Amino acid sequence: TFDTLMIGGGPAGAAAAVYAARKGIRTGVAAERFGGQVLDTLSIENLISVPYTEGPKLAAALEEHVKEYEVDIMNLQRAVALVPGRPGEAHEVQFESGASLKSRTLVLATGARWREMGVPGEAEYRNKGVAYCPHCDGPLFKGKRVAVIGGGNSGVEAAIDLAGIVGHVTLIEFMDEMRADAVLQKKLRSLPNVEIILGARTTEVNGDGTRVNGLTYEERASGEIRQLELEGVFVQIGLVPNTEWLQDSPIELSERGEIVVDAHGMTSVPGIFAAGDVTTVPYKQIVIAMGEGSKAALGAFDFLIRQ
Ligand code: FAD
Repeated sequence: TFDTLMIGGGPAGAAAAVYAARKGIRTGVAAERFGGQVLDTLSIENLISVPYTEGPKLAAALEEHVKEYEVDIMNLQRAVALVPGRPGEAHEVQFESGASLKSRTLVLATGARWREMGVPGEAEYRNKGVAYCPHCDGPLFKGKRVAVIGGGNSGVEAAIDLAGIVGHVTLIEFMDEMRADAVLQKKLRSLPNVEIILGARTTEVNGDGTRVNGLTYEERASGEIRQLELEGVFVQIGLVPNTEWLQDSPIELSERGEIVVDAHGMTSVPGIFAAGDVTTVPYKQIVIAMGEGSKAALGAFDFLIRQ
């Protein structure tokens, strides 16, 4: 039985493991893919005090840091169910492999994934013009032309944010109106370098073999196919928390499926904590996930010493 077990080995899980292990408690990390979303990231320029790094390099550094301590790392383990223990008893996590682990406290840090459009060119040009995170990749498109796909709050926020950095923004919304808050829509419409196209279905991301150079969309009302010339496409059609495996557990999830946590990172079940992109904490970023993971581990330690 562990004292604390992290489910997920991204920035949140790794930070939680380091903080827990430094308290001298029995610590484990079980992850489907140690490193998490960071593994899919090309350049990272906003991890404070590290002006530039690359995803795989940061993922290796996370693992190296965790391995400085006595932490059981169980990689390639996908959790499929959580069975909370009765008060005072250990919680159990079951894995796809058939294995199961018990721990007195848990830190759930299974992250999230960007919803993809699923159109030709999107995967091919990922990190080559196709981006998902305006805070991360916006500055790479300074002075260039970009499209933002999606007219919900995140799409409109991204378009407003990008309009201050890039040369021109085209926002493309599938429906005939945007779903974003009215105040955001008003702000967006006031910007001189933004065009809004409603009722449009993106059908392809175009490129020259190495980088994005355009976008094809269908005008839904007329069925006409149109093309835009541009250098970047920001896909903002939703971030999906990896909480499917918690659906049958008593852990409270928000409407969007995110784990609800309190100021100490504790979930609705005492002794079970959560951190990072999988939670209701806003702004999904590496530095935030690391901070939240550290906080959840301290929360778990505090919980244990009160038992
Ligand atoms: P994740 O990194 O998602 O890690 C989740 C972990 O849980 C993984 O180990 C995963 O394998 C595991 N897991 C998931 N489901 C299960 C399961 N059922 N059982 C067991 N394990 C499971 N942020 C920045 O700050 N700067 C950037 O430049 C930046 N660029 C980005 C570029 C891209 C392309 C992407 C996709 C994201 C980027 N982000 C960036 C966001 C950043 O990567 C995330 O905010 C951060 O990784 C969240 O950390 P996390 O630990 O909460 O989750």
